[in-house]
Amino acid sequence: MIALVLLGPPGSGKGTQAAKLAKELRFIHISTGDMLREAIRQGTPIGLKAKNYVDRGELVPDKLVIELIREKIANTDGVLLFDGYPRNLAQAKMLDDIVIVKAAINLHVDENKILERLTKRRTCKRCGAVYNLETNPPAIPGKCDKCGGELYQRSDDTESVVRQRLSVYKEATLPLIEYYRNKGVLIEINGDGTIEEVFERIREKLGDVI
Ligand SMILES: [Zn+2]
Repeated sequence: MIALVLLGPPGSGKGTQAAKLAKELRFIHISTGDMLREAIRQGTPIGLKAKNYVDRGELVPDKLVIELIREKIANTDGVLLFDGYPRNLAQAKMLDDIVIVKAAINLHVDENKILERLTKRRTCKRCGAVYNLETNPPAIPGKCDKCGGELYQRSDDTESVVRQRLSVYKEATLPLIEYYRNKGVLIEINGDGTIEEVFERIREKLGDVI
């Protein structure tokens, strides 16, 4: 089966683009996180194995995730779009055993822009609603539109934690990017701009490979 891989740091808009690509170009959107949660909820054989790790607070082993992907794509037809997977070189090599990766799209967004996006996020203490001070501010500063609760900044949205998340991401994905570059399937995309602008850039580049 033919597959596309979408790479990009937290806050790059990767999830939004993946959903839009799947919808408009009819790719089959594969999110291993969602698949794992679903398998655990349904109590499938793989889900039960995965649950043992999750319950112990451990990472689900790569082999189990690949098994899950293999099971999922066995009865599917079409181009697969992987979102948030693979995360490292070992996973990329395993993925190559079960699909043909035609393109790895790497979304670039300036680190300071990401910091700006993520550190402006505010969450309601009472109902969990999410706001952005710039793109989606509450009507009354510091108060939730929905329930009037107090808005706060989640601890993982603070600058030092976001910087830490970005550096962890970079360290794990650099070898992955090199791997796809050497295979000649890497597509670099400027992820700065509106959702529509970035989507058009991806669509244009994909036109040459798919
Ligand atoms: Zn609220």
